[in-house]
Amino acid sequence: MKIDRIETFLVAPRWLFCRVQTDDGLVGWGEPVVEGRAEVVRAAVDTLAELLIGEDPLRIEHHWQVLTKGGFYRGGPVLSSAVAGLDQALWDIAGQAYGAPVHALLGGPVRDRVRIYAWIGGDDPSEIGEQAAAQVAAGMTAVKMNASGRLSPIPTSAEVDAVVSRVAAAREALGEHRDIAVDFHGRAGSAAVRRILPEIAPLRPFFAEEPVLPDQAHRLHDIVTCSPVPIATGERLYGRAEFLAPLQAGVAVVQPDLSHAGGISEVRRIAALAETHGAVLAPHCPLGPISLAASLQVALATPNFLIQEQSIGIHYNQGSELLDYLVDPAPFAFVDGHINRLDAPGLGITVDEAAVRRADATGHAWRNPVWRHDDGSFAEW
Ligand SMILES: [Mg+2]
Repeated sequence: MKIDRIETFLVAPRWLFCRVQTDDGLVGWGEPVVEGRAEVVRAAVDTLAELLIGEDPLRIEHHWQVLTKGGFYRGGPVLSSAVAGLDQALWDIAGQAYGAPVHALLGGPVRDRVRIYAWIGGDDPSEIGEQAAAQVAAGMTAVKMNASGRLSPIPTSAEVDAVVSRVAAAREALGEHRDIAVDFHGRAGSAAVRRILPEIAPLRPFFAEEPVLPDQAHRLHDIVTCSPVPIATGERLYGRAEFLAPLQAGVAVVQPDLSHAGGISEVRRIAALAETHGAVLAPHCPLGPISLAASLQVALATPNFLIQEQSIGIHYNQGSELLDYLVDPAPFAFVDGHINRLDAPGLGITVDEAAVRRADATGHAWRNPVWRHDDGSFAEW
């Protein structure tokens, strides 16, 4: 069996899919994308495809090594995301070739279902409360919310109060037996986070995410020691080496993205590295169905897995939805805040190829917003 064709598809709302075909008719799907840079990753996939055409798709680890290290300049979001999508597609092909779901090839399931969380939005505490209550009604056992919108470098008293009252509104709606994760999105900076975290700690957040940007990882140890709230990070880290310093600083939760951090192959290794530091895995996934399926396969086979992000039905998926690209959405059905084990071969989903080709004919040009402070200077999004 040889790989004979690799294609990419730019599909709404902001995704890129890849399709890897073999000469005996197997097709694997992957999702190689950096949100806002999809066209750039597409070019990277086209270049890396030269290394795969004519090769045996079942040599996944060998291909991962060559794709990742076969250029003198390595790593970073674009190249690591291109490798990630191709890696997902190769695992999808392997599963079909062996007649087994990917988690079986990773050693077999260590759990029967995967706990998921839903996003809640809104700026006003009453909006937060309403959305949290809606997720409770839908059976969710955990939600995630942004700590704040745009934030001053040293937050004002009013800004601190706003964060506390929003988290408090979520806690009130969720009760004491469900979890709230709070995402700082790297907007705050270390001083701001050290002021805010002790204030929200009595509300017992599940974890505080991206308290600082990845380039301030050297401040993570200070943040870990300032508050009892567990610290999470990793959606903007692209390989196991980049997770070592945050883990040594004491982060409790690592959040590699299956479409950014080298795919299934590398996220498994990141999970193992986290395990040696007593940390747990909660993969980042605001992306499409292929990335979510890859995340679930890893979750099913990884002992130190905590919870899975997903964006089904979320407000920011405008123009198209995650389930629009599946022949059958049933594998992603929510049951009591969980997704049941995916047992079909490969990634466990059937991509609607006709829908993907139609969407690619339109494409998209999604870009993340650029925010400004009141004085016109740049603000982190
Ligand atoms: Mg985040």
